[in-house]
Amino acid sequence: MKKLVEIVAGVGGGSLTATSVVEEHLDRIRTRDGEIHAFNLVTADQARKDAAKIDADIKAGKKAGPLAGVPIALKDNMCTRGVETTCSSKILQGWKPPYDATVVGKLREAGAVIVGKTNLDEFAMGSSTENSAFGPTKNPLDVSRVPGGSSGGSAAAVSAGFAAASLGSDTGGSIRQPAALCGVVGVKPTYGTVSRYGLVAFASSLDQIGPFTQDVRDAATLLEVIAGHDPLDSTSIPQPAISLVPVLDHGVKGMRVGRVTDLPEGCEPDVLERLEAAFDALRNAGATIVDVELPSLQYCLTAYYLIAPAEASSNLARYDGVRYGNRVDAPDLNAMYAATRESGFGEEVKRRIMLGTYALSAGYFEAYYGKALKVRRLIYDDFARAYTKVDAILTPTSPSVAFKFGSKTDNPLAMYLCDVFTIPTNLAGHPAMSVPFGLGADSMPVGIQVLATTLGEQSMFKVAAELERAS
Ligand code: GLN
Repeated sequence: MKKLVEIVAGVGGGSLTATSVVEEHLDRIRTRDGEIHAFNLVTADQARKDAAKIDADIKAGKKAGPLAGVPIALKDNMCTRGVETTCSSKILQGWKPPYDATVVGKLREAGAVIVGKTNLDEFAMGSSTENSAFGPTKNPLDVSRVPGGSSGGSAAAVSAGFAAASLGSDTGGSIRQPAALCGVVGVKPTYGTVSRYGLVAFASSLDQIGPFTQDVRDAATLLEVIAGHDPLDSTSIPQPAISLVPVLDHGVKGMRVGRVTDLPEGCEPDVLERLEAAFDALRNAGATIVDVELPSLQYCLTAYYLIAPAEASSNLARYDGVRYGNRVDAPDLNAMYAATRESGFGEEVKRRIMLGTYALSAGYFEAYYGKALKVRRLIYDDFARAYTKVDAILTPTSPSVAFKFGSKTDNPLAMYLCDVFTIPTNLAGHPAMSVPFGLGADSMPVGIQVLATTLGEQSMFKVAAELERAS
């Protein structure tokens, strides 16, 4: 399977055509996506047209873009003008946004070819893609296992070679965890780095868009294109994209990498073994491993499952049968709202809306939502202290390798525990990424998570690139 940077070099240099690259990927989709179900929608006709246009432009002497001819898949919670955007929910089925998300415009401008919209846990709530209203996505490495979630379709699409790269969204781990489970690279940038304009909101103070790719260089290349200030997103950081590709070969000599001494329990031994191997690799490459304490880490999961549902209950109030998507008719307005939401939302989404509404309700607000915000401050302070001593921190991405379908669906708490290592960075607004680092139980891939402080993407990518070289 061709890497993103190989495609850009080939299409730009004339040894490949965008058309041939796109056909190769559409072929793989045709052969295998019936089984995998990475996509909710494959936009083959438009992809062919876009590829032909890129080829014609290059032939006419136009400068090739930084993603020329790269087939990219989009999580189906990013708005695409005139193209169905469902969030894998019945309530939005058939809804066609009147505008493109900022990232979509940036991809097109850079010469990328969008091949389709990928499956997710409904409204990005879940860790296995089993909460999709349209059926689960399978892990391409073992179809009896989940691909992770919520961006399971985007992770599977890259792992199966349906797209050279994809975009996902990460609110509590939804890029990094599926990347780990499918054996690909996944990056959650610093909050405010990539515009959220046109990303359907789940928990606005945590949501961030980021790339899935086959390797670290591809991720750096793609992130450089999609990052940067956007006046249409009021939380976008007013500065240009950080340059990442040039630091990839810097190595880690002299860098200080943190080992968390009070990591929450529950991680499988095969994963912990790979984490130790990762520390060894960095030490061998000249980094110093430094112990750090993050005492508030143990409260992060609880805080997240108050903050994220609280924001979701507010964000999802707009799906009322009037302005978006499907409507169930009823004799009066209130009955119509109720019937539409009752039939349109799945079980997990309803659970989150109820949890969030409760946490925000009069009399409970201070005890739940207010307290969760205080924990959020504590973890932020813990990280701030740690980053006076280290340039990056390593943890596992997921406590286990990809699990079997149905093994956690009866127990929401077991599913929530999948995010124990990924959630803290979302609460802090920091960047983090998952890099494949060898195999664990049943020969399934293990992802190592590299964390850094706000706008510390260069340190994070240096460490990630070193881990990739070592693996
Ligand atoms: N699995 C987490 C949840 O269910 C994270 C989801 C996400 O990052 N979108 O909320």
